[in-house]
Amino acid sequence: MSKLVIVGTVAFDAIETPFGKTDKILGGAATYIGLSASNFDVDSSAVSVVGGDFPQEYLDLLKNRNIDIEGIEIVKEGKTFFWSGKYHNDMNSRDTLATELNVLEHFNPIVPDNYKDSDVVMLGNLHPLVQQGVLNQMTKKPKLAILDTMNFWMDIALDDLLSVIKNVDVITINDEEARQLTGEYSLVVAARKVHEMGPKYVVIKKGEHGALLFHNENVFYAPALPLEEVFDPTGAGDTFAGGFAGYLAKTGDFSFENMKTAVIYGSTLASFCVEKFGTERMQSLTDKEIYKRLDQFKSLTQFDIELN
Ligand code: AMP
Repeated sequence: MSKLVIVGTVAFDAIETPFGKTDKILGGAATYIGLSASNFDVDSSAVSVVGGDFPQEYLDLLKNRNIDIEGIEIVKEGKTFFWSGKYHNDMNSRDTLATELNVLEHFNPIVPDNYKDSDVVMLGNLHPLVQQGVLNQMTKKPKLAILDTMNFWMDIALDDLLSVIKNVDVITINDEEARQLTGEYSLVVAARKVHEMGPKYVVIKKGEHGALLFHNENVFYAPALPLEEVFDPTGAGDTFAGGFAGYLAKTGDFSFENMKTAVIYGSTLASFCVEKFGTERMQSLTDKEIYKRLDQFKSLTQFDIELN
């Protein structure tokens, strides 16, 4: 079975959307990525850190979805990373109300020995030096390194971020972040500039407007599935990344053609994530539900046209 290393935050989130408000619930980039990737037949390991305040029940939840948690360090006397956000009425934009790094501040990631030769490395959102630290521990160059990040790290650690970006094959960021990273409004120009920074493949996520995959002069676009109910978009980007990475790890085919399918899987999984608060929907997801939605996706985007 193919191995996948995931690094990212494992967190407490407090979320407010027009539909309601939650207190501290399970969140974090590695959590969403791991839950999403767990829908594929891959051997995945999460590398992260939590405090003594983190419930065992949450760790068990990840373990029960077949995510190896040996690489999640528990700092008994520390507090878990905390993030709080509030969504605007359109649900496509949000304000970050709080980011408390806590145990993340002095985190030194340790990749379990058994995963140091993984084929795919998914560098989820956290400090770029931690992302680089994970890459440095790989004993064999991964076949595919994917990086996700956000404006927070561009604001406080841009140089470190630019250094790690040089060393990855794929970057997945949202439109706003692509614009901030490159200073370009056009996403086509922004993608070209990101290519020049290192990654051969650039995925730009556009929330309810889908996702774009760029590779040199090739572009592929996948819409997001139009949904009746969107309760909480938190984690949709990470869920997309987890589906994308999980599918690629499972198939072991890293061509542009196969990445298109990976984008479809990512979008499909993200469409479930937003249906309930936090990780709730992802915890109970079944293969049958995924299959059904992929089918809907196919009919949404397929058409016949005769070009003479
Ligand atoms: P997404 O909605 O996909 O952008 O991801 C939301 C998740 O990212 C939440 O569960 C947060 O815990 C986590 N998160 C928020 N800010 C940061 C940050 N600066 N670094 C790492 N993870 C973060």
